[in-house]
Amino acid sequence: MTQKLGSFPGGLKLNGQKKRSTQVAIRKMPLSNKLILPLQQHIGEASTPIVAVGDKVLKGQKIANAEGHVSVPLHAPTSGTIIAIDEQPIPHPSGLSALCISIETDGNDEWIERHPISDYTKLSAHEIRQLIREAGIVGLGGAGFPSFIKLNPSVHHTVETLIINGVECEPYITCDDMIMRERADGILDGIEIMCFALHVKDCVIAIEDNKPEAISAMELALSARPHLKDTKVVSIPTRYPTGSEKQLIQVITGKQVPSRGLPIDIGVVSHNVGTTYAVARAIKHGEPLISRIVTVTGREVKNAGNFETLFGTPMHELLSFCGTERQAGEPFILGGPMMGYNLSGDHLPVTKTANCIIVGVDDGAKSSTPLPCIRCGECAVACPVSLLPQQLYWYSRAKDLDKASEYNLFDCIECGCCSYVCPSEIPLVHYFRFAKTEIMTQQQENAKADVARIRHENRLERLEQEQQEKELRQQQRKAALAATQAAKAKQAAESESSAEPTTTDSQETQ
Ligand code: SF4
Ligand code: SF4
Repeated sequence: MTQKLGSFPGGLKLNGQKKRSTQVAIRKMPLSNKLILPLQQHIGEASTPIVAVGDKVLKGQKIANAEGHVSVPLHAPTSGTIIAIDEQPIPHPSGLSALCISIETDGNDEWIERHPISDYTKLSAHEIRQLIREAGIVGLGGAGFPSFIKLNPSVHHTVETLIINGVECEPYITCDDMIMRERADGILDGIEIMCFALHVKDCVIAIEDNKPEAISAMELALSARPHLKDTKVVSIPTRYPTGSEKQLIQVITGKQVPSRGLPIDIGVVSHNVGTTYAVARAIKHGEPLISRIVTVTGREVKNAGNFETLFGTPMHELLSFCGTERQAGEPFILGGPMMGYNLSGDHLPVTKTANCIIVGVDDGAKSSTPLPCIRCGECAVACPVSLLPQQLYWYSRAKDLDKASEYNLFDCIECGCCSYVCPSEIPLVHYFRFAKTEIMTQQQENAKADVARIRHENRLERLEQEQQEKELRQQQRKAALAATQAAKAKQAAESESSAEPTTTDSQETQ
């Protein structure tokens, strides 16, 4: 469908490199003997285990509870036995380890009893959100934000448009393309549920024009649902990073999400196509989120494609299954070449946010020894948020974090456009990530110090008040004592004077 589209500044035309992984249908990754499930696979607080080592679990059984407001539970991706709850390496740029639940699979793949909802319109929006939360659904576009929160606009906001993000603008990644081609009906089921929960009619399914098969599949499925007359498929020009939430909203609505604001501030909610499909599986089939489609591609992958993979599956098994010519410990990219990061561990598990693994990028690696900045300004031209990456680079490098914040560091979406065009091959986005982490750490420390200071001040105030009250009580006691003594003295004086005859008395009696 044609629609008047907005635009955003900067951005890049990149070589998509998507053909290699879209030649065959989505395949199912065979079951691994052991699954390793990090408790933190989403933005927010990690979940808390509710199983113990030795417990038998069924496929889809909840094994960890959500903790706090921004959190979701975790489920067993297959049946088996819990064999460990301990620290394991997780997919993270810093090579971190974190608490994981490990399951030895039994090969039966036996489900728990599922509770599909035949008519979700009989539920309230709150009940639908709770089911989505309980199913452990998070944004599958790579961000991992708990989806139930995005389906809960506050009473102060009205949702005018739901945008379903099928843009997938980073090179190499094709999992969204393939899910739209093959599971369009499931995505539409998810859209109907989300529209119902958000009380919104208008929905835009946004797809870049380099995915004609996905556009046709979604349009065909939509044509069979005339009641979805306010849902449309919109083809948008291929330009990186249109798939970023704020840029996509600008393209579709012509409106800009305010700096440090949220899409809901301008009446928009957006969800990834994979997330939308997961919502349909959760509500209509009673299935929690236990797997995702992962693109495995790159120059060194023989059987590139998209694979339905259970969470916890070791990445090296997935890579072997795809016939990857990779030596143990050889690095690969998790995510896309622009926003992803290098990993080298062999036993790292597939998690909810693992959308793509690339082994062997065709575009040539960047130099490991960047040259000095020549102040060419190319980075500012490419920035889709109209930032000044060169200045941000100076301030981040000099650790002048106040200045970096002043230059809107936190509006940076870490798209990497600036690094990509920099003729000096400066890894600008690494500096920005580092500076953001430093600022957030400082803010957390400041917040902790503030809490400690307030606690100390409150204690001093309490002690002072107690001292004042003590002094007051002492004064009151003294005053009471003095009054008692005075009264006694007066009484004694009165008794004495009444006992002894006075001169006047003598005169009167004479
Ligand atoms: S593109 Fe690179 S060299 Fe040019 S101004 Fe930006 S940081 Fe400096
Ligand atoms: S990484 Fe940040 S500064 Fe660089 S182009 Fe993207 S948004 Fe702009």
